[in-house]
Formats: sequence, structure tokens, C-alpha cells
Amino acid sequence: MKYALPALEYSFGALEPYIDAQTMELHYTKHHRAYIDKLNVALEKHPALAEMAVGTLLADLNKLEIDDAIRTAIKNHGGGHWNHSFFWSIMGPKKEPDQKLAEEIVQTFGSVEEFKKKFTEAALTRFGSGWAWLVRHQDNGLEICSTANQDCPLSSGHTPLIALDLWEHAYYLKYQNRRAEYIDAWWNILKLI
Ligand code: MN
Repeated sequence: MKYALPALEYSFGALEPYIDAQTMELHYTKHHRAYIDKLNVALEKHPALAEMAVGTLLADLNKLEIDDAIRTAIKNHGGGHWNHSFFWSIMGPKKEPDQKLAEEIVQTFGSVEEFKKKFTEAALTRFGSGWAWLVRHQDNGLEICSTANQDCPLSSGHTPLIALDLWEHAYYLKYQNRRAEYIDAWWNILKLI
């Protein structure tokens, strides 16, 4: 089995003006594809691993009996594949609010506004490239966190609920170095809340 780009459920321009069409096209067709291509190459000689869903590989990352080079390749390229697939799926031109999630957010953080403030802080203070997340713990609680590079919370036993790509390739064409403006705009196209 070869890993492949998932279908994008909206056009490259659908998230304008918050994310511009050129950024979306490059991000999806170049950056995301590159992670998939490199993952496929890394697993060419590991057909049993290549049969597994990428989310399973990441969740089992520290349990798999594989050498460190393959583990690193799965972490970076498999993480890049899974994280981007998830990121595309939680955005959209139209809001599709998840009422249950909103209730849990209010229970945990006090209000949606307070959640957004804390999530934004986590995104702004992630040094260098990485991701900000809202995750569900194994004990069912919600937590905001961030990860470096393409590290995926699945590898720490957490279930991602919301993700924000903080790599400059996600925003540099439109926002240059202004990560705060990108984050602020992104709430408009996060469809869940
Ligand atoms: Mn990205």
C-alpha cells in the first residue's frame, strides 16, 4: 500500500481571505505531498509497516520493534502526513459547530473565549516550527499543548481534537512573520467552534 494525499473537501481558494489560495495550493500539493513521498520511500523495504494506517504507526511509534532511522522517518514524514490530513479536515469555508466539544471546552476552560486565549498563547510561544493542539487524554480530559516539528500527540497517547500548523510555510506568503495575525484569522475557518 502506498500512502496518498487525501481528497481536499474544498477548493484552494475556499478559505480566503484568511488563508490565501496560493498558500493552500503549495501547502497541500507540495509540502503535504513531500511528507507522503518521503514516508513511502522510507517504508519501501518495510511492507508490513506500510500496510498499517499512518495513525496506527504514530500511536505505536514507541512500541514498534524497528530501527531508529525508520522510527524517525515515521515520526517526521508519517507525522507530517497525519497532521496535515487532520488539519485540512477541521477547516472549512462554513462553520459546522460541534456542540458537544464546545460544552466540554466551556467545562474545562471556563469559556470558548478563554480557550481561544490559552490556545493562542500556546501557538505563539511554540518556538520554531511545530503545531498547537487541543487533545483528549486517555482519562478523557481536554488539554492544550504544542509539539515541535511534525511530532504528533497520537505518539503520546493523546487524541487530537483541534490542530494548528505553525510552520512558516502555513502562513508566510500572506502574513510573513506575523504569526499572531495568522492565528487570529484562522479561528474564522476552524469549522468546529
Ligand atoms: Mn504544514
